[in-house]
Amino acid sequence: TRGLGKVYSPGSEAEVIALHGVDLTIARGEFVAIMGPSGSGKSTLMNLIGCLDTPSSGSYLCDGVDVASLDAEARAILRRDKIGFVFQGFNLLPRMNALENVAMPMGYANVPRDERLQRAQAALEAVGLGGRAGHRPSELSGGQQQRVAIARALINRPPILLADEPTGALDTRTGEEILALFKRLQAEDHTVVLITHDPDVAAHAGRTFVMRDGELHEQEAGA
Ligand code: ATP
Ligand code: MG
Repeated sequence: TRGLGKVYSPGSEAEVIALHGVDLTIARGEFVAIMGPSGSGKSTLMNLIGCLDTPSSGSYLCDGVDVASLDAEARAILRRDKIGFVFQGFNLLPRMNALENVAMPMGYANVPRDERLQRAQAALEAVGLGGRAGHRPSELSGGQQQRVAIARALINRPPILLADEPTGALDTRTGEEILALFKRLQAEDHTVVLITHDPDVAAHAGRTFVMRDGELHEQEAGA
């Protein structure tokens, strides 16, 4: 990103300048952590990187493509092909069970139904939830919902994984398993961008940035 800025509700009384000219270049296969206080703009930046939102200023190249030049449909295709997203609030579909939630992104990618369900079941097993496939989100604990969201984000094996507090609701051991999963992905040349409040989680990343009042600063190694 170059000079990326985001203003919510510009010109109105509720105007919020959430990002101030953020410059950030992430290489393929990198594992990057973003820390920073609540309200500092982390999720805002993540939504821009994830092509879910468009910047108010500045530019963003995703795999060489200038995202601002794309219409909504082209952006959605880029998102489907390149990006897996673990949302801060999980964003699971309440009427679907765990298996259907995990299988959903494959529907957009035109994978046949049998294969979808098989792969979704395997993905649930990989996050330790093989026995909860038929449960709806309301029938799962917070940490289990988080793991369903992670399985869903990974199901299309996206080259870029964006995760907003993916281990926040998990106990230490489960969190470590998820981190190990992310590191395996990175070893397979996936790019991982992780938002976290936990310095121990951030310590797994190759580079750590800290967001403060919409400005992004890289943390010195070892600091
Ligand atoms: P947290 O750690 O609490 O998740 P965050 O760093 O992810 O915080 P953001 O969600 O990026 O913070 O929000 C940055 C600022 O932008 C906040 O002041 C927030 O109130 C504001 N904001 C976020 N989303 C919107 C929106 N859709 N409309 C207006 N203001 C928003
Ligand atoms: Mg946030």
